[in-house]
Amino acid sequence: MEAVAKQAEVKNYIDGKFVRNGQQSMNVESPLTGEVISNLPLSTYNDVDQAVQAAKKAFPAWSSMTLKERAQIFFRYRGLLEKHMKELSELVQLENGKTFDESRAEVEKSMELCEFAVSLPQIVANEVQEVSRGVECRIERKPLGVVASIAPFNFPNMVPHWTMPNALMLGNTMVMKPSEVVPLSVVRMAELLKEAGLPDGVFNIVNGGKEVVEAICDHPDIEAVSFVGSTPVAKIVYKRATSNLKRCVALGGAKNHLIVLPDADLEMTATNVVASMSGCAGQRCMAASVMVGVDNVQAIIDRMVEYAKTIVPGNNLGSVISKAAKERIEGYIAQAEKDGAKILLDGRGASVPGKEGGYYVGPTIIDYVTTDMSVAREEIFGPVISIIRAKDMDEAIHIENSSNYGNAAAVFTQSGRLAKEIIERASAGMIGVNVGVPVPREPFSFGGWNESKFGVGDITGRSSVEFWTQNKKTTVKWNAGAKTNWMS
Ligand code: NAD
Repeated sequence: MEAVAKQAEVKNYIDGKFVRNGQQSMNVESPLTGEVISNLPLSTYNDVDQAVQAAKKAFPAWSSMTLKERAQIFFRYRGLLEKHMKELSELVQLENGKTFDESRAEVEKSMELCEFAVSLPQIVANEVQEVSRGVECRIERKPLGVVASIAPFNFPNMVPHWTMPNALMLGNTMVMKPSEVVPLSVVRMAELLKEAGLPDGVFNIVNGGKEVVEAICDHPDIEAVSFVGSTPVAKIVYKRATSNLKRCVALGGAKNHLIVLPDADLEMTATNVVASMSGCAGQRCMAASVMVGVDNVQAIIDRMVEYAKTIVPGNNLGSVISKAAKERIEGYIAQAEKDGAKILLDGRGASVPGKEGGYYVGPTIIDYVTTDMSVAREEIFGPVISIIRAKDMDEAIHIENSSNYGNAAAVFTQSGRLAKEIIERASAGMIGVNVGVPVPREPFSFGGWNESKFGVGDITGRSSVEFWTQNKKTTVKWNAGAKTNWMS
């Protein structure tokens, strides 16, 4: 990207039109430089209500189209994502601060999510069976109505695509609430959906913060709420939405443990662990946060430090999202130092020439962390890894199992037997074997365990079909004379 570009002001998107109704506003900054690039409305219940009314109005026509007809729109939409790949990637980079390559990977993943969505006609072919002579039962998956999706800042393009394509393909209409710090990518999503032929009102955007989320949880005409963000907010949203009798799946934060066994391949392990903790500046819910080194893994740690030195802010490492995030991350590093841990590589005080107003933290490796330290227990969400030394595999698994979170866990080893044991005993929803960021690709579904997810099922893949639909069971008999058993 040549320069940080000013963007048009962000508007809500309701019934196929961009609207701004004089709400209070908030600035949008690019974390690359700290410059203000846009502003967005801080919407209220009234705005959410307008979006819900538009989505309600669009629902009957949209839900009565066939899956195959809806799939045509998503075929075209996926093509538009590909056509505008460079521009969309630059937008992600501008508003989120990650590198161009990371931004591009995000948009590519959005395309894959659309590919899964267009395959739904194959997946949700209905079940039918003759249950008695002349009597047929069948199950059809029906949409719920108006649904909502609430997104975090760290994947401005991809996370909205975790929900939008599947929910819409299955016949629902949607109100989307992007993160107020990265509202720009979702604007382009609406424009490209319209260009692909999506009818007005099927997809709506309401911008803002807490007030919009509360309105979504409270609105009587929203049937289901999906949320992705931090655990404290996931708990609030899950409780509030379900207490208003909506179905809800709420994905929360993470503290992912990578267990490194002494037989692990040195080069592959060192580079994968560092890539996992530093990619997207550590602002991935799948990022490595704790490395549990079993027995003697000193050579791997030495190589990690050497490799991490080649990851340079402003070059192959993006910014973190805000000044507050930089201060929080640096605060954790300072606390670990005070608690007696050893800082092997210190990313505090990073600055990028020409972008001094940006928010950068260099890769940070902290050794001799103990389980009682805050860096061992809390989500840091920055390019920081805490190394805990464990005497054996049982102790390593005990450390992993003690976390309140359970998004991902990984093991690095060359032993299939030991890997299998860790797969069985780790308390996390997504497990990697020699994979530092074990994101399940489509059609496998995405979702953690413990305090990393509240609600039943996962947010993507086949599992999401259950979330976005309800079953209609029909029993049919046309042969009135037939009476052969109790069911007839
Ligand atoms: P966040 O929880 O601060 O915000 C998420 C959404 O909730 C935003 O749209 C925000 O406007 C809204 N919100 C914030 N505070 C609220 C409140 N008090 N009441 C109601 N709504 C509120 O999360 P974030 O900082 O945008 O994103 C980072 C977090 O998201 C990290 O914890 C990360 O692990 C998590 N995350 C999890 C996953 C996953 O799959 N489990 C994926 C991506 C991000």
